[in-house]
Amino acid sequence: IEFDGFANAPDLDYAELANRENAARAIDQVGNNLGQTYQPIINGNTVTAENFVDSLNPSKSEQVVGKIGLASIEQADQAIAAAKQAFPAWKKMSATDRGEILRRAADLMEQQRAELSAWIVWEVGKPVREADAEVSEAIDFCRYYAKEMERLAQPQYRHVPGEDNTYIYQPRGIALVISPWNFPLAIAMGMSVAAIAAGNTVILKPAEQASVIGAKIAEVLIAAGLPAGVFNYLPGKGSQVGAHLVKHPDVHLIAFTGSQEVGCNIYAEAAILRTGQKHLKRVIAEMGGKNGMIIDESSDLDQAVVGVVKSAFGYAGQKCSACSRAIVVASIYDPFIARLVEATRSLVVGDATAPDTKVGPVIDGSAQAKIRSYIAKGHETGKVALEMPAPEHGFYVGPTIVTDVAPDGVLAQEEIFGPVLAVIKAENFDQALAIANNTPYALTGGLYSRTPSHIKRAYQEFEVGNLYINRSITGALVDRHPFGGFKLSGVGSKAGGPDYLLQFLEPRAITENT
Ligand code: GLU
Repeated sequence: IEFDGFANAPDLDYAELANRENAARAIDQVGNNLGQTYQPIINGNTVTAENFVDSLNPSKSEQVVGKIGLASIEQADQAIAAAKQAFPAWKKMSATDRGEILRRAADLMEQQRAELSAWIVWEVGKPVREADAEVSEAIDFCRYYAKEMERLAQPQYRHVPGEDNTYIYQPRGIALVISPWNFPLAIAMGMSVAAIAAGNTVILKPAEQASVIGAKIAEVLIAAGLPAGVFNYLPGKGSQVGAHLVKHPDVHLIAFTGSQEVGCNIYAEAAILRTGQKHLKRVIAEMGGKNGMIIDESSDLDQAVVGVVKSAFGYAGQKCSACSRAIVVASIYDPFIARLVEATRSLVVGDATAPDTKVGPVIDGSAQAKIRSYIAKGHETGKVALEMPAPEHGFYVGPTIVTDVAPDGVLAQEEIFGPVLAVIKAENFDQALAIANNTPYALTGGLYSRTPSHIKRAYQEFEVGNLYINRSITGALVDRHPFGGFKLSGVGSKAGGPDYLLQFLEPRAITENT
């Protein structure tokens, strides 16, 4: 590939003592700054909320990471007014000038890398190496979309005798960004800066469990020089301000990442034309997955075991890209399981702030209860080959492997979003592929194989948005692995890819008779 002006920001190397010490220091420092109050920011001003909710540390659930001021409906309307007012000037600004602000935001995040990672560790219980990779991704989104918009801002001309044609893109208007807690920095920043780079103005409604990180995003963007009103930070309840904004006639597009249920609701609500609305809303929704990895008889089991463990239990399985089904051909089924169980057993489960933790807590009590109910179903319907113990004080669920799961059983069909892996036996590669494709989702998928004909068939027949061969299936990199799926995994094009910004733009063709 030719270098086209974008390079992924490198993660920190934690083999270096200095980086480990720095991370530990940042985690301590942030730990000394928990419990502050975070209010909505509208038109560059902090406003005062009436109701508050505590954002808790999932690793020690009695610890309050931040007190979040919940925006009211009236404040949501003020945010709309601010975004509307800021739009004309922002739309007019050149892609390069807008990009410069985003590149400054990226540089600021490089400078604050350790601190931002530490906030992720504390607020959503993500172990520090993964938190650091998330900061890299947030940086990448800023630089990548800035560059992408510069590309798209070049008018395309087509002249024929007597006629000049110009093809250009213009922003849509107000973008509502509804972001998830599992990548509280990268995904919230990515969706926001895509909209911003394209010349739209933004209201960010972060997930309630990740609103402190949302406030950090606001800090970074404001410090980078974003004009007031271009970005508004609006923490609040999804069912109240979120729902209100989705229906609002002045919202032009909604970028959402989260559950399939909420995504489908947003899609339906956004389709209804409201009083005073003079456009149709565009919805970009990245939803769930039930991602399978096929392990065939020719695979390198050493590699496959490591790849499945990482994909299934990284961030306690709380990624929509996570592996939740290992589909293993019969001839290697037993040895694969034996090695998988032992490899998983070696994972250190504990407080995300501890440097050796590999699997931290899950996000909150209701997630914990839901995951546990799936494990109970696993006991009823399959064989629980491993259920690791986990600390009591915090929202922990020990990594769990259920084998002999029926391909159409609940554990093989429903998204669990936790550290629970279903192992399914397939008679042969053909059957494995059929099982892999037999869910309503199509997000990520993987194949471990050294059989060229199998690999070739996977290219053609494995129905997922991101297919990974002989590697883990999480950790998509901006630009290199444009990320997103189809079927019930979402609508809209891939984040960090060449088509993403088009969704935030309206194309126009201008023909001049000369
Ligand atoms: N992009 C992330 C990955 O490749 C997953 C995003 C998500 O879980 O929403 O692992």
